[in-house]
Amino acid sequence: MNRRAKHKIILIAWIITFFLMGSGVWGFQAGHLMVIGFFMASLVLYGLAAFLMRCPKCRMPVLLRPRKVLGMELYTWSILAPEKCRHCGEILH
Ligand SMILES: [Zn+2]
Repeated sequence: MNRRAKHKIILIAWIITFFLMGSGVWGFQAGHLMVIGFFMASLVLYGLAAFLMRCPKCRMPVLLRPRKVLGMELYTWSILAPEKCRHCGEILH
């Protein structure tokens, strides 16, 4: 199983957890705060993963996606890891 497939499974598991938890706790008094807290914790985890997952060859974060917009180099973050490094083309496993 490659990295992209693992990411899809993690993403699907996260969405299911989010909805299950959301529908389970929404009725409580602080239910929406718990959902927001879960969302914030997920963002922090994603941020950590985004900085820690680096290409073995060029050390650039693999989730950072360079784009050319109107001649300017812009970077966006993607949720799923690419199959190849977008900087040097190294195959990621
Ligand atoms: Zn690379």
